[in-house]
Amino acid sequence: MAGDPYDVKFQVLAREGRARAGAFTTPHGAVETPAFMPVGTRASVKGLTNAQLDAIDPEVLLANTYHLHLRPGEATVAALGGLHGFARWHRPILTDSGGYQVFSLGDLVAVDEDGVTVKSHLDGEKVRLGPREATAIQEALGADLVMAFDQCCRLPAPAAAVRDAVDRTARWAEVCLAARTRDDQALLGIVQGGTDLELRARSAAQLTALPFSGYAIGGLAVGEGPEALRTTLAATTALLPETKVRYLMGVGLPLDLVDAVALGVDLFDCVVGTRNGRRGHLFTHDGVLRIGRVEYARDEGPLDPECACETCRGYSRAYLNHLYGVDEHLAVTLLSLHNTAFLVAWVRALRRALLDGTFAATSAAMAARYREGEARWTALHALDPEGRHGSRRAAAEREARRRRRFPEDGA
Ligand SMILES: [Zn+2]
Repeated sequence: MAGDPYDVKFQVLAREGRARAGAFTTPHGAVETPAFMPVGTRASVKGLTNAQLDAIDPEVLLANTYHLHLRPGEATVAALGGLHGFARWHRPILTDSGGYQVFSLGDLVAVDEDGVTVKSHLDGEKVRLGPREATAIQEALGADLVMAFDQCCRLPAPAAAVRDAVDRTARWAEVCLAARTRDDQALLGIVQGGTDLELRARSAAQLTALPFSGYAIGGLAVGEGPEALRTTLAATTALLPETKVRYLMGVGLPLDLVDAVALGVDLFDCVVGTRNGRRGHLFTHDGVLRIGRVEYARDEGPLDPECACETCRGYSRAYLNHLYGVDEHLAVTLLSLHNTAFLVAWVRALRRALLDGTFAATSAAMAARYREGEARWTALHALDPEGRHGSRRAAAEREARRRRRFPEDGA
């Protein structure tokens, strides 16, 4: 490697209980934490232009190594100036290692000491990804923050399998550190271990012994349930150094974000904003509003009166209900835009509360209001469980179209 690894100079600026507000530097600007990172799977946050994204003001954007490796390929991205030049996005970017995607999307052929071979979910071609490949691909993509290649387990899994994945992740972490040739990217290690607290401790000990710029917590929000998530997270963040940035991968529901910030997490990413937006599920300060429901057909109010996004400032619930109901392209944009803006602003509000010294009261009030809103919707929807616009057949057709357009949404 050319010089010393990039130093993000992570600083804790305020603390309340285990929660903390911090800041760090990257070659493309400073990052203030805690922060929610929108996901641009294929170097695009689905449905949004750069100008729309810029107005949302995310601290960091995430892009997926596995998807970009398949299309257009890292050589093309590198030839066009890396992700920053290619996507013309001039603020900080993080790429994941491809580990999660390769284990969840690919049709597994073999796992060995040097990596994983899968058949591509696109065309069945064999794809090989390991710590060396993931490091080289991420160097070509050129993000500011890059991730070590890890092995994820699908839960539930036998303890021996989770332990093997933890130990292999640690060996791969060392290979990633040694394989680096760039000195302008910060490399983060990923703590695995499922919901087994002893294995989490083992993984945290293995990885914090290595000189990473920060630590991610992987392998959660994969169906273990909210209690197990919370317990595992509480135990794991306690084992990570206070002086390094912490990133909880794949968690983005508003109440989970409140809990995780309280436990000392600094960075988050999740596709839940854009994906739920496409399904007509909109986050608001009062819980999730289902815009396709018939009660919004003549509602002139904004999605969320307290949201400052373009959708909430410029459009009514009635118009959004119509766009969603007839499956207009603009619906994907406006609904994804609001959800992305909401999650970024939601975590930023928690940061502000930390800096103001009001985190406990503010976060409790935010969570209580969100829960009360959810309870009201649930009661309302119980009176009219269908509540949908148009016939059952029209709704089924709309759902089928969405699945064809966004196959990665799943069922
Ligand atoms: Zn909004």
